[in-house]
Amino acid sequence: MNNYDIAVVGAGPVGSTFARYMAEEGFKVGLMERKRAVGVPLQCAGLVGKKIKKLNVISDEFILNRVCGAHLHAPSGEVLSVAKKKPEAYVLDRMSYDKFLAELAVENGAELLLNHKVVGVDPKTGNIRIKNHETNICNRVIVGADGCSSFVSGEFNPPSKTVQAAQYLVNMESSVLESDYVHLYVDSRISPGFIWIIPVSDSAARIGLFGSASYRELTGILNGFLARDEKFKNASVVKKYHGLIPVYDPKKVILKDRALLLGDAASQVKPTTGGGLIMGFKCARIAAAATSNALHEGDISLLHNYEGSYAKEYKRELRMQIEVRKIFESMSNVELDKMFLKLKEGNAEAMISKYGDMDTQSPLIKQMLKSGLLFSILPGILTRRISNLWK
Ligand SMILES: Cc1cc2nc3c(=O)[nH]c(=O)nc-3n(C[C@H](O)[C@H](O)[C@H](O)COP(=O)(O)OP(=O)(O)OC[C@H]3O[C@@H](n4cnc5c(N)ncnc54)[C@H](O)[C@@H]3O)c2cc1C
Repeated sequence: MNNYDIAVVGAGPVGSTFARYMAEEGFKVGLMERKRAVGVPLQCAGLVGKKIKKLNVISDEFILNRVCGAHLHAPSGEVLSVAKKKPEAYVLDRMSYDKFLAELAVENGAELLLNHKVVGVDPKTGNIRIKNHETNICNRVIVGADGCSSFVSGEFNPPSKTVQAAQYLVNMESSVLESDYVHLYVDSRISPGFIWIIPVSDSAARIGLFGSASYRELTGILNGFLARDEKFKNASVVKKYHGLIPVYDPKKVILKDRALLLGDAASQVKPTTGGGLIMGFKCARIAAAATSNALHEGDISLLHNYEGSYAKEYKRELRMQIEVRKIFESMSNVELDKMFLKLKEGNAEAMISKYGDMDTQSPLIKQMLKSGLLFSILPGILTRRISNLWK
């Protein structure tokens, strides 16, 4: 069996993107995927900020829909509506896009090995073992991009924390679906998770939720939600999906000797929403720069630049989002309702519409601090903790 400069474990969107970067530079890359096909089953709502166009190759064929704004629903039914003039986010055909990214890696020289489940990893030597294969594969670097239940991560981290997610594809009347808006519903039973309605066309939506409840409880909540709301009266559930979302872990060790972690395997997801595509793609770039340098210089210790550049790019934003997540986790429905009312009174809709960014939340929080709005909705001690992040 071949040996590689880099063995990438997992041909998900992040692993395939990283594999392409390295293959483009002429490195010998093996992209190991345990499944027989890339991209299946769908385990994503597919909502991604428009900055994906700056971070990865994507053509219109993978964009099913474009959204300009969101309706944010309090448990009481109070709604905050926020919007931009132009589309702010895309709804992706994730299965086709994952396949495309893996093919692009292959076109650029990576070797895709389907049906290759990695069952042994030695970060010191770079050796990996594949299920039902006799000989080890020897590599200069191993990249664990094997998702939120990462085997590679398990070699040098405790088991990763994850939460369950459930999602239905629902066909519904076009008259009740506003196709350029998503709906998000907060509910203390699943906080900091939430329920989403993400339109994929004029007459179909991905409706789902995540949270720290069992899959059974989540589907109970989702079924109750669909049964209660008049607009789903004539809707039909076409498909059901479920998946896991990593909980962002600031203590995660993302580099050990010759092995580094990337994407969901590194818990590189937004602490507030669990969305991982944009962050994963950005980190694939950061990791590729550090890996390329380490291999060109023949000095594996230079892989540490990955940790440094990742922290520089994300440390403050992630700490801020952790605070926001904790606040949501601690709130009852009554408190959530009060917060929505105060936000509405404080003209937050205009502020969120202007400063809101689905991937980087610190500019909005900073603005809310500056205007005093944050003080009006949160206890002083929490506001001080958040403002300290800018010191
Ligand atoms: C219901 C749901 C909705 C979501 N919605 C959004 C959203 O709207 N926007 C967003 O940005 N993110 C969303 N996410 C998160 C997003 O899907 C992930 O962040 C993203 O898929 C991470 O990509 P990845 O390449 O790191 O990992 P994955 O996509 O998980 O890919 C990992 C790959 O590794 C393979 N693998 C695993 N173990 C092994 C092994 N031992 N050997 C070989 N191969 C292995 C797997 O088969 C898989 O192909 C959602 C997630 C869920 C579950």
